[in-house]
Amino acid sequence: MADYDYDLFVIGGGSGGVRAARVAASDTGARVALAEEDRYGGTCVIRGCVPKKLMVFASEFSHMPEMARGYGWQINDGTFDWPTFRGHLNTELDRLEGIYRSLLKNSGVDTFDARARLRDAHTVEMSNGETRTAKTILIATGGHPVRPDMPNAGLGIVSDDIFHLQTLPKSILIVGGGYIACEFACIFNGLGVEVTQYYRGAQILRGFDDEARGLIAESMREQGIDLKTGTNIVEMAPASAERLGATGTASDAAMGATAEQSAALVQEDEDAKGPVWVKPTSGEPREFDLVLFATGRDPNSRDLGLEDLGIEIGRRGEIVVDEYSKTALDSVYAIGDVTNRVNLTPVAIREGMAFVETAFKDNPTAVDHELIPSAIFTQPEMGTIGLSEEAAREKEEVEIYCTSFRPMKSAFAGQSSRVLMKLVVSKATRVVLGCHIVAPDAGEMIQLAGIAIKMGATKEDFDRTVAVHPTMSEEIVTMKTPMRTA
Ligand code: NDP
Repeated sequence: MADYDYDLFVIGGGSGGVRAARVAASDTGARVALAEEDRYGGTCVIRGCVPKKLMVFASEFSHMPEMARGYGWQINDGTFDWPTFRGHLNTELDRLEGIYRSLLKNSGVDTFDARARLRDAHTVEMSNGETRTAKTILIATGGHPVRPDMPNAGLGIVSDDIFHLQTLPKSILIVGGGYIACEFACIFNGLGVEVTQYYRGAQILRGFDDEARGLIAESMREQGIDLKTGTNIVEMAPASAERLGATGTASDAAMGATAEQSAALVQEDEDAKGPVWVKPTSGEPREFDLVLFATGRDPNSRDLGLEDLGIEIGRRGEIVVDEYSKTALDSVYAIGDVTNRVNLTPVAIREGMAFVETAFKDNPTAVDHELIPSAIFTQPEMGTIGLSEEAAREKEEVEIYCTSFRPMKSAFAGQSSRVLMKLVVSKATRVVLGCHIVAPDAGEMIQLAGIAIKMGATKEDFDRTVAVHPTMSEEIVTMKTPMRTA
């Protein structure tokens, strides 16, 4: 048998890669190394879920004084100081990165702060000039946000850049209607930024339950977000007064400039990022202090040496793997966002654990990608698992149990916000096929409802469960008659 430096070499120190490296080393005694070119913790910890959720918490305080006044508190609206928050955030991210590093170290994993690529089926070469061999190589390089392919798109930022902003803009245009766009629309709105959101389709959060996403859109508008559906950017250009002159528009300035001048203007704004002049598909052109593109993410599969080795790359750049996360090469596996299956941190972690079972514990384990609960951290949140009403109707006859109401806490304070509890039930088997909750803390609720649904609970199982009173979520076990059959 060939003598390798390591049993496992992991490329990528995000949630999936770190978990796989750590478990392989500590549970099986494998000799493991991991290379990370950036910060340990990856997208989730450094520039995704964690800082985003902390920003959600920060932004939610803006709604509290009004609520508190409804309960008799003599309390004034406060002001938000971005540099203070950002300082605390950076300290917290440093702490978390330190934990990730020490978890690896304490598990006996060798780490390399370098970019790595495959030289052959068992050899990794790194940007620091070193090479290492391994019996098995795991690619867990994640993904990156992408801008639309249009002139001057570099004038807009992407989600990675948000946490580095020196100042909060007064106004922001967010382009996109997915998770990231909607979450940051609510966050910036809560932090006092004037938010406009363009989404090219008819309704945000495509693919989620229509009724649930309808309520999210309604709530976002009620909170003051200028959400424009059926709208996209036609043209964008730098929009500083000096460039525009007294009367002209940035577009005129860009149009009048030579290609080099125009490129220089854009490059300058790459550094400065704004303000930006934007012409939409409908309505008047206007300027925004900042434009955020939340227009999707692509897998980080480039320049890893994969194609040369015969590893298949899909249309969006995803590494094609089988149900055990194995690529076309027996010694190379891939997990997480780089495989573009279900792009969520806990799924990448599961894929990492299943990989260790398969490759190191002689227990081939396919990852179960069915019935994954998830939350969208809009305000209010959406918690969801299983089929939307629309998707379920395509498959079979269903009964819809649904209620929407003003919850006690905010209704008492005179607020009009509503929540939604919805079950999609198979008429034939009575199994609950989908559960969709729009409410404060819906993410917490769906985690628990998800257990029942994953176990195959029927509507009657929900009915048999006694309500916890008084809560919002008690409605999920007290809906007696279907609202409709579809
Ligand atoms: P999504 O794929 O969810 O959304 C991208 C959005 O951008 C869609 O609304 C899409 O429109 C729109 N879009 C795409 N291309 C263009 C274009 N050229 N011009 C205008 N609009 C465009 O990506 P996100 O970036 O929001 O999130 C990426 C992934 O990250 C998610 O799929 C999710 O897996 C993960 N994530 C999960 C979170 C959570 O669990 N809470 C939070 C954040 C991210 P259309 O609908 O028409 O295609």
